[in-house]
Amino acid sequence: MTFGIRNIVGIHRLHIGQKNYLTPLLFKTYEKWSYWKKEAFDYLIWCHLSHALDFSIALLCWLWIFPITFPEANQWHIKWVSRVFLYNIACEFIFYSFWHWMTYGRTSPYPRGSLHEKKFNPINQYEEKNQHQLLREITFTTLGWLQSAFVQCVFMWLWASGRLPYYNDFWSRPFFSIYILLIIAYWREFHFYWVHRFMHPWWSVQNGLRQGDIGAFLYRHIHSLHHRSYNPGPWSGLSMHPIEHFIYYTCAYFPLLFSCHPLHFLYTKFHADIAPIGGHDGYDYPAGGRSFHYLHHAFFECNYGGPLVNFDRLFGTYKESIKKPSGDDKQTN
Ligand SMILES: [Zn+2]
Ligand SMILES: [Zn+2]
Repeated sequence: MTFGIRNIVGIHRLHIGQKNYLTPLLFKTYEKWSYWKKEAFDYLIWCHLSHALDFSIALLCWLWIFPITFPEANQWHIKWVSRVFLYNIACEFIFYSFWHWMTYGRTSPYPRGSLHEKKFNPINQYEEKNQHQLLREITFTTLGWLQSAFVQCVFMWLWASGRLPYYNDFWSRPFFSIYILLIIAYWREFHFYWVHRFMHPWWSVQNGLRQGDIGAFLYRHIHSLHHRSYNPGPWSGLSMHPIEHFIYYTCAYFPLLFSCHPLHFLYTKFHADIAPIGGHDGYDYPAGGRSFHYLHHAFFECNYGGPLVNFDRLFGTYKESIKKPSGDDKQTN
């Protein structure tokens, strides 16, 4: 789940003692709606609105970075490539650092105030002695952003050099353009469940690991790095082995299959870059509120996906999340 203005305002309201800290900024009567009205809203509207930050970063990249890089992207050159990398790394440090400061920062008033009571695991993982968790997480998160920036450069080069079809005018195919944009929230959750499930033991581990279990092999050698953050924070979400980064970012490779607009690729890519921040911050509402994925980090063999497209319920691995009065519980990782 991506954090947003609703979370920033909510944390501040909680800190200054306002009782209405969970009241949404928009749709204030949400809690009084019927079950089906809430479900329809969550699945049709909120799952898109809650990723406004990811979409804004993608849109800014399209409107600002593409005009100063794409005309030269038919050939590899340090000038345009470095601009793409700089934009990506700037986004990483601005948004990850900001949310880390809000939820764990030593100079921030919030983690030592009422927000502390919302922490799923009351131990502050970044204050434990001899803990190098933060340094590890920043290092591997940065490797993830570098890889996703490189993937962006590859697609820009493929499009600009005529090796891959795309279309430049978003509104030349309005229904198709909007349809693909709207499908991305569900596609991300579908893709995340399966690639994540793929990297955990494929068979039950109750009687020990089976010989030849590919999932167990991948877990031990690749995905276990992500699980070293059993008490996660904002920087934990993209803290993965580079091979897991490769698997994770294949969600944005769909332009290889059909002609789409670069904004479709950018939204999916930045969704994958940004959404894990709030999804791993380790706090209940009004912060990320992602008890669903927190339970996966705490107990491992449950909640592999997300509650929007809930494959865990289907396959019997769902561990009940802490129920909270907000549509945020249905957002992607
Ligand atoms: Zn996992
Ligand atoms: Zn995780």
